[in-house]
Amino acid sequence: MKNQELVDYLKECGVCLFCQLRHLKARGEEYKNLKQSFERLNVSYEDESDNTSDPIIKKKRENVCPTCLDLFSADFKEKLIDSILGTDIAKYECDGIVLAISIPIVLQLQPLAMWYALLDKFGKDINEERAPDVSLKEAIKLIINPTICERLKKTYDIENGIMININLGHAQEEAILYRLRKLNNLAYPPKKGQKLEQISRSLIEKKYNPSRVSLELFKDAFSVPPSIPNEGLKLESVTVYGPTTYVAGRYRKISRKLSHTPWVLNGKRVMDDSIEEIIIRNIAPYFCDQKKVNFMSSGREDVDVRCLGAGRPFVLEISNAFRTTMSSQQTLKMKANIDASQKVSVRDLQIVKREDLTHIKMGEEQKRKCYRALCQLDSPATVGILEMLNVTKGFEIQQKTPIRVLHRRPLLTRPRSIYSLKASVCEENKHLLILDVVTQAGTYIKELVHGEFGRTTPSIASIIGQRIDIVALDVEEIDLDWPPSID
Ligand SMILES: [Zn+2]
Repeated sequence: MKNQELVDYLKECGVCLFCQLRHLKARGEEYKNLKQSFERLNVSYEDESDNTSDPIIKKKRENVCPTCLDLFSADFKEKLIDSILGTDIAKYECDGIVLAISIPIVLQLQPLAMWYALLDKFGKDINEERAPDVSLKEAIKLIINPTICERLKKTYDIENGIMININLGHAQEEAILYRLRKLNNLAYPPKKGQKLEQISRSLIEKKYNPSRVSLELFKDAFSVPPSIPNEGLKLESVTVYGPTTYVAGRYRKISRKLSHTPWVLNGKRVMDDSIEEIIIRNIAPYFCDQKKVNFMSSGREDVDVRCLGAGRPFVLEISNAFRTTMSSQQTLKMKANIDASQKVSVRDLQIVKREDLTHIKMGEEQKRKCYRALCQLDSPATVGILEMLNVTKGFEIQQKTPIRVLHRRPLLTRPRSIYSLKASVCEENKHLLILDVVTQAGTYIKELVHGEFGRTTPSIASIIGQRIDIVALDVEEIDLDWPPSID
């Protein structure tokens, strides 16, 4: 079979120039200049629309291509571009796009029917297991994607592009599905007790080719070669969705009356605000117009615990964002707005990459944390007590899950490392101790101090052999060197 013979037959069947080239296995740039590609492949090129200038004749001569249903036609590409421009794509300040085109089953079936026809016509020259044409998926990449990128003046960017979802349909889809179900029952009769298999794209990809389903069986259900359809594809919907943007930073919690996330009890808010809400409402509106934004942080502190020092790393995951960058001026404005809450302050605000998120997730268990606790003794502090609480060599404690968090954490006894202790007495009140503690992340500090009826051993109370209570607690430092300091 020569290229020319193949093309002549395809033409006879009404196949368009793009699909003829697909059957000649054209690659890459070869779809850009059809004439050149045909000449290179030694195939006579005739574009029927070239031979006449009469638009009515021109229109009449063009049939709907049976193998792509006019997906690759100039008209359809125009329609696609118009529809994309008709969405709110203009509000996205991104240079990249990604196309996700969902095709109807009939568009899978028509080329399959052509495969059978070619096999029937050319016999052993046609492979029974590997399709004779460049797949639609590949051809979309080579033909549609570059055209759309060029017209929208965007680049193709899988990672950070605006996702353009294009849904295609066809008038014959239902009828084709009906016939396919019947054929599938004959070709792959369900075994006893087995459910009927749903017709899907992957089913056809996997189980339908001339080596698996005979020509005779296929011919009974569908015309071979494929008939020329009356209508081309329908553009059912076009929607756009922005990329996901990640904004990282560090927050300092200045208030002792602020929860980490919205605190709701029996459907009622216990506290009006939370760290999460303050940060989200001052950053997210710049990037998106939806309320749902994911807030992640490297651990958290209790409502009455402050977090000082360099602060605690956090990330906002903002999906469907219409921006992926922010100016330093914008950053300063966000920072100032958050600081104005007087409950939380932020620093090192920056855009980060998705893969950087591992830092914040890994940080949890291994890292060291520094705390400063204000503790109250029943009797005034003594030199003996201060000596017992001056520990530079690390030790291990066994800590049962505190009763106060049992409603959300499983009951376990966990070993935790205490790296150092240092105590000093408060000058104004000898009953008060300032205790600096360096611990493994995940240690419950309040319970480490008072021991919680022996559920944490040893504890500060058991070390000094008397009751001690915690009055206030601050996180001084979180040993996670991320995100990079920029302020
Ligand atoms: Zn075609």
